[in-house]
Amino acid sequence: MTNATKIEYEPVIGLEVHVQLKTATKMFCGCALQFGAPANSLTCPVCLGLPGALPMVNKQAVEFGIRIGLALNCQIDHRVKFDRKNYFYPDLPKGYQISQYDEPLAFDGVLQMPIQDASGQPKVCRITRAHLEEDAGKSIHMEGSTLVDLNRAGTPLVEIVGGPDLRSPEEAYVYLNTLKRNLSYLGVSDLSMEKGSLRCDANVSIRPKGQEKFGVRSEIKNLNSFRMVRAALEFEIQRHTRELEAGRTLSQETLLWDDEKHETRSMRSKEEATDYRFFPEPDLPFFDVPREWVDSIHATLPEMPEKRLLRFLDDYRLTEQDADYLVGEKALADFFERAVSLMDEPKKVAAWVVGEVTRELNDRNAGIDELTLTPESLIELIKLLDSGKLNNITAKEVFHGMVETGEGALATAKKLNKLIEQDDDAMNAVIDEVITEFKDKAVADFKAGEEKALGFLIGQCMRKLKGKANPKELGPKIAARINA
Ligand code: ADP
Ligand code: MG
Ligand code: ZN
Repeated sequence: MTNATKIEYEPVIGLEVHVQLKTATKMFCGCALQFGAPANSLTCPVCLGLPGALPMVNKQAVEFGIRIGLALNCQIDHRVKFDRKNYFYPDLPKGYQISQYDEPLAFDGVLQMPIQDASGQPKVCRITRAHLEEDAGKSIHMEGSTLVDLNRAGTPLVEIVGGPDLRSPEEAYVYLNTLKRNLSYLGVSDLSMEKGSLRCDANVSIRPKGQEKFGVRSEIKNLNSFRMVRAALEFEIQRHTRELEAGRTLSQETLLWDDEKHETRSMRSKEEATDYRFFPEPDLPFFDVPREWVDSIHATLPEMPEKRLLRFLDDYRLTEQDADYLVGEKALADFFERAVSLMDEPKKVAAWVVGEVTRELNDRNAGIDELTLTPESLIELIKLLDSGKLNNITAKEVFHGMVETGEGALATAKKLNKLIEQDDDAMNAVIDEVITEFKDKAVADFKAGEEKALGFLIGQCMRKLKGKANPKELGPKIAARINA
């Protein structure tokens, strides 16, 4: 085939995201939700699936589900209906999963993304549905045998099914980040891919550009990070393209991503809904979702990140990059706003939060609410710097000390002996010492008009003063004494 006849293909991508809810107890029983407890210690007849045990719906889980639905601009169903999805798996002792089939709790939503589509319009992805279901247990594969831990069985999940609206792996990546950012504002989940509280399956097909009908899709599982989702989609798009260009047909498959080999491998041919023999869960009668309940949940939704971003740009005149970063996590944006309420210098405060605070969070792989640092102590530090009691270098040192101990800026600066004392005599003595020491070199150079020499002399003074001076103040002082 020559290039001229080559068909141009367009990818079509739709993502399914599972969010583990951080309710106090499981979806249908009173067992506690807890990560890392001894195997099978958090179980009861209901989540073990013992005969005769009856499930009860966790109201908090339904409320969290409604919260998610509303935040994704969905309609909320007027009643809750659960169905049984039947399949056999060792970590599913009941032989079925309680899920929602034809009546999802939430449906017909949209997620607005901070990018543009091919025609320059703001990119939106439809949210087809968001439904409640329970998680299965965990199989732990050992050499030659498999152990089952049922602590996770019955954990409430919300499955968010995105429309087939994404057109590139990069758009899928942005979708996931945007979705995660929105969900982080709701306080309904840890959203940790590492701990499995956020999981994603990716569906992808390709079609000739301009054709409306979708191609045959692959569903990729075992994606443990957003980066892997993007890489697996890129791989599949290339594989589909190769197959079609070679004149072969594709079959609908479920695949696993192997991140080490950087390739997908087939897990099974795609199962159909009919394979699961869905039927209404007989142990859980339908129940109504009163409009007032939905309204009251709606009233507690926080300002969502898209809106907050615009306000940060307007009110604080931040750069798009800083504003985008700050609203990325609600706790961080809250921290920033509290700090700005104490000191009306948003750009200066933003520079600290985006800079030093973030470096610290990255080093510790922690969120802002895991640090003992408060907005109050950060502002105290910035004020010490502004008043000349610290310089740019010692301020950072004091900052790191504060993060270690959780103490205030002044207390830490004193403890670390970093406060600049306004002892002019001592400073002048040091300046004279340095001038004498470098009389024939740097001082002579400076006198001959070499500005750089002053920087050297400042450095020498700073060293003798153990960093407890302000270089901006030292420069003119040294110059004045040389020229005197
Ligand atoms: P299932 O429940 O069998 O997985 P769904 O119809 O619920 O199937 O779709 C699951 C996901 O697959 C959705 O996110 C949807 O956007 C996406 N999807 C459906 N058809 C295609 C396709 N042809 N190409 C890419 N993605 C698709
Ligand atoms: Mg699916
Ligand atoms: Zn239980």
